[in-house]
Amino acid sequence: ERTTVLITGCSSGIGLGLAACLAADAARRFKVYATMRDLAKGERLLERLGGCCPDTLEVLQLDVTDPCSLAAAAQRVQGQRLDVLVCNAGVGLMGPLETCSDQAMKTLFDVNLFGAVRTIQAFLPAMKSRRAGRIIVSSSIGGLQGLPFNAVYCASKFAVEGLCESLAIVLRPFNIHLTLVECGPVHTSFLANLQRPDPEGSEMRGLDAETQGLYRRYLGHCQSIFRDAAQEVEEVLPVFLEAIGSPCPPLRCASTQLLAPLWRLRLSSPDGSEYVRAMHDFVFGSSETGGDQP
Ligand code: NAD
Repeated sequence: ERTTVLITGCSSGIGLGLAACLAADAARRFKVYATMRDLAKGERLLERLGGCCPDTLEVLQLDVTDPCSLAAAAQRVQGQRLDVLVCNAGVGLMGPLETCSDQAMKTLFDVNLFGAVRTIQAFLPAMKSRRAGRIIVSSSIGGLQGLPFNAVYCASKFAVEGLCESLAIVLRPFNIHLTLVECGPVHTSFLANLQRPDPEGSEMRGLDAETQGLYRRYLGHCQSIFRDAAQEVEEVLPVFLEAIGSPCPPLRCASTQLLAPLWRLRLSSPDGSEYVRAMHDFVFGSSETGGDQP
């Protein structure tokens, strides 16, 4: 019998890549429910699969911020048992904290945190009653450690980490495995889709010059990290496949070792000051004063 997998956020990036990879499995081991907010964006997925929808794939509308759309998708899948739920939908928000609007912060949490909560809530009861299932959640390196100018994004992914670690404890006796996948930078639409103020734009008005300077330097750093160290979607998919296929997947798996030394610093120096210093120096270069005089 085929393993059924429902994935959120399949119109681009990791979700699209994972859905295409599972649906095209040569041994036809999977039935994939590829879900997306806007069905009109489903063409890229079908193109990837050669232009027509194989019987291993069903494309469903699902906006993780809309309880009605979640209920409809859950209804559709009910009856077929769902083996694997992949909560992948996510958005980014970058910039000095002073420039993050209330609305942008609420939207981000509505997708990244509450979207994952709602999706899990919709499919958990059936998994519990079958005493089987897997939940895989797209977290981020930013869910493990703070990243400059990503405070609200990191807050949402730290929240996802806390959510899942807490839930995993309760799901253990139900034989439901929960896995957080922490990706580093990956070439997807994420960077283009994320909200970020233009360093020369009107959002910066009133912000102190020093923070503006740091933000410009951060954007340069970010660009070079994405250019030199970002992974392709194909490189991170094995981590998801492992979480789907392994008999006993871990709670956390990272797709990259890029920031592992900094992560270890967080563990070896739990008061956090070493991490803050090292991350500052990594992004902004070392400086005795800690300040960047414009
Ligand atoms: P992406 O922008 O290509 O994909 C995210 C998908 O989520 C998009 O298809 C988008 O339409 C969808 N989405 C947004 N709001 C939604 C909603 N309300 N309902 C349903 N779908 C919604 O970027 P990606 O890199 O493939 O991101 C996938 C996940 O990986 C995200 O959770 C992201 O936070 C995480 N991640 C990405 C990176 C990276 O560098 N690309 C790094 C670490 C973690």
